[in-house]
Amino acid sequence: MAVQSNGKANSLIKIPEIKFTKLFINGEFVDSISGRTFETRDPRTGEVIARIAEGDKKDVDLAVEAARYAFDHGPWPRLPGCERGRIMLKFAELIEENIEELAALESIDAGKLFGFGKTVEIPGAAETLRYYAGAADKIHGLTLKMSRELQAYTLREPIGVVGLIIPWNFPSVMFFMKVSPALAAGCTMIVKPAEQTPLSSLYYAHLAKLAGVPDGVINVVTGYGPIAGAAISSHMDIDKISFTGSTDVGRLVMQAAAMSNLKPVSLELGGKSPLIVFDDADVDKAADLALLGILFNKGEICVAGSRVFVQEGIYDEFEKKLAEKAKTWVVGDPFDPTVNQGPQVDKNQYDKILSYIEHGKREGATLLTGGKPYDRNGYYIEPTIFTDVKDDMIIAKEEIFGPVMSLMKFKTVEEVIKRANATKYGLAAGIMTNDLNIANTVSRSIRAGVIWINCYFAFDRDCPYGGYKMSGFGRDYGIEALDKYLQVKAVVTPIHNSPWL
Ligand code: NAD
Repeated sequence: MAVQSNGKANSLIKIPEIKFTKLFINGEFVDSISGRTFETRDPRTGEVIARIAEGDKKDVDLAVEAARYAFDHGPWPRLPGCERGRIMLKFAELIEENIEELAALESIDAGKLFGFGKTVEIPGAAETLRYYAGAADKIHGLTLKMSRELQAYTLREPIGVVGLIIPWNFPSVMFFMKVSPALAAGCTMIVKPAEQTPLSSLYYAHLAKLAGVPDGVINVVTGYGPIAGAAISSHMDIDKISFTGSTDVGRLVMQAAAMSNLKPVSLELGGKSPLIVFDDADVDKAADLALLGILFNKGEICVAGSRVFVQEGIYDEFEKKLAEKAKTWVVGDPFDPTVNQGPQVDKNQYDKILSYIEHGKREGATLLTGGKPYDRNGYYIEPTIFTDVKDDMIIAKEEIFGPVMSLMKFKTVEEVIKRANATKYGLAAGIMTNDLNIANTVSRSIRAGVIWINCYFAFDRDCPYGGYKMSGFGRDYGIEALDKYLQVKAVVTPIHNSPWL
């Protein structure tokens, strides 16, 4: 069983005061029109930490009006790209000046590790802004020599007002994954953070204003998905939706977009990713990677390696090492620097994960480690590894989004390719082998948007990221992501001797 930390938070870290709780529309923090608010809770204790303005359709209408005006008449889409880039660089600097406070906000709102936030996630958010700031003045079309006496050039224009709907598991990463390319492209936007984690998005809205992002360009509407989120996806005056979240809600977003103004959507959805360990892999390293693959961010990550397939020759040794390593994994207060895993984001998620664990037990899988919540306040769950898992068990098929691994044995390359692909999802896969032929064969055969060979979670903002199958379509990160926020216009003109002249 995993060890629980002594719960000692780092006493030098100041729990931040919550400064921003209202909607951010047209450059101002405002109450919701209805005056309603909702609670956000600290997953370490379950206690309410703030009441946040609850936006609904009327507030979304106001935000869209502001974004529309800023797009149709404001400076942002008309600025030279380098000027947009300069403001984005300033925005990145301001994030860096507030790293500790932002990381602490994520810990009390989402249960995320403070140390990781401070050193990786929040600095990474600033880097994402910088990456796209550098692209803002490199958005070019093509010159085309056409077959008749015509020539054409293409313009890549900002797509317009975009709705950006994000989940709770990586609030800062998701915010900048979408806002940065949209800003670089010259779009204006309405961001809808998840109701579980509204705090950082509101803080970023404040920093955007300080950096000089004009009013109306970034609007943040906090509120519930089926109300505020649905008002965004069905809005007639929003030109594009970029959504990250569950597959079920992605389907609703796409339906609403289709039934309103046929706006294009891009969807980054759920996953049930395989990590495949071959006989020739370094067993120790592979066990470390498998553990990280399922327990990082308490398993609340869309690309979690939740199905671990291990070849029969090393299976027993792997299983033993995995169990030993799981015992050293520390669960506790995310401010404690010795902790590896904090609490699940909220009571719903906690209950959902525990009910999947019960399914696993009932279906006959064997618990190698964990399987219970911790007997303390907050939403802490033991790192849980099931063996004797069959491919058709619920725990092997459905996305659990928690610290729950299904460990399975395989014999041949062909068999594991088939089993790894036997899922409706296709977000990511990991392969552990030193055999180049196996690595090449498997990486080309798995239907997933990213394949990690001898690594896992190897993200970089220069590398496009997104799903196959029901994990969605469209890519975040990379220069590809800019295309989501641009559209192509062809301008055609006759040239000399043309019959058109
Ligand atoms: P979710 O789908 O419940 O919510 C995501 C967002 O959609 C939230 O802001 C929510 O308020 C909003 N929403 C809910 N109902 C809506 C509706 N009817 N119309 C419009 N918006 C609505 O997902 P979640 O629980 O916040 O996040 C977990 C899910 O997100 C998991 O399935 C995970 O795999 C997925 N995810 C995917 C990626 C990826 O890049 N592929 C990354 C992170 C999370």
